[in-house]
Amino acid sequence: ASRAEASAFSGRGALACGHRVQLLANIGSAADAEAAAQAGAEGVGLLRTEFLFLDRADEPSVEEQAEVYAAIFARFPHQPVVIRTLDAGSDKPMPFITAAQRSDAQRSAAGSQVSEPNPALGMRGFRTHSFAPEVLERQLQAIAQAAEHSEAEVKVMTPMITTAEEAARFAELVADAGLQSAGIMVETPAAALCAGATLAPVAFASIGTNDLTQYTLAFDRELPDYGGLQSAAHPAVLSLIGATVRGAEQAEAQADDGAQRTVGVCGEAAADPRLAVILAGLGVTSLSMSAPALGRVAAQLSEVTLAEARAAAAAALDGSVVTAAVAAPAAVTDSGT
Ligand code: PEP
Ligand code: MG
Repeated sequence: ASRAEASAFSGRGALACGHRVQLLANIGSAADAEAAAQAGAEGVGLLRTEFLFLDRADEPSVEEQAEVYAAIFARFPHQPVVIRTLDAGSDKPMPFITAAQRSDAQRSAAGSQVSEPNPALGMRGFRTHSFAPEVLERQLQAIAQAAEHSEAEVKVMTPMITTAEEAARFAELVADAGLQSAGIMVETPAAALCAGATLAPVAFASIGTNDLTQYTLAFDRELPDYGGLQSAAHPAVLSLIGATVRGAEQAEAQADDGAQRTVGVCGEAAADPRLAVILAGLGVTSLSMSAPALGRVAAQLSEVTLAEARAAAAAALDGSVVTAAVAAPAAVTDSGT
């Protein structure tokens, strides 16, 4: 049987030539954390924190958050855990944030427009910090508390970054909270195209291909797919991923800190074995996916060398290989919250 058919995961992602690609898990609950640890993930590439906030009238307290985060961190001693700050809005509506926005709008003379005609293009992710700053600040405080006594290598990232100023502001908030490693999600074409600038203030990028695909192809991720318009295999999306990797190199070269800026992928694309090869070929160094996908992605990666992955990436960028029909099977999809 070919190695790609075997689905056991050895706990270490690498190409056939030995080139390392870290294989991490996407988790969105304590149960997912358990499954990821059992599956032998190398750590967590995306901890979605929305599960703690959904369907609640009020924000969970700092203590409640810290307790839940600490329990998850404890499952991954000496491994990276990338925790994402609240991604409220759009496909993840949160009543308490909407309420904060409404009161802010009511205070504002021009604030009559509260409901959004296009929520995916509105106040979501890091943008909610502009009208509810204390929600993010309290969350960072809770993360810092949980990280303090944890053996996990805790890193914090924020969703929906569009400008270098937002990235710098987030890095500042993370440092103020006493946390070490700030990163951004690259989910907008703007963040990808200007990655040299958006990655300058932070330590890492994690590409959210679910949103990046939605915003690049201008096709709502909440709709059923029509004709591959939700595929991260579109050359335009792959090209933005390549631009992010080059931007990270540029940010590294220009920084006085000499620190590396790593680029990972944590959207659905990472769970698709053929796309995983292309992503490795584009220079992505970690892939994060739902735990059941780890084995088959690891198996596929182990079949190709870096030179072969680069050739696959070049062909896909060129549009000469149609991979748009490649989608993760329903059993391992990870469509978020
Ligand atoms: C993404 O957009 O690809 C992502 C990983 O985040 P979410 O699916 O939670 O929006
Ligand atoms: Mg997203």
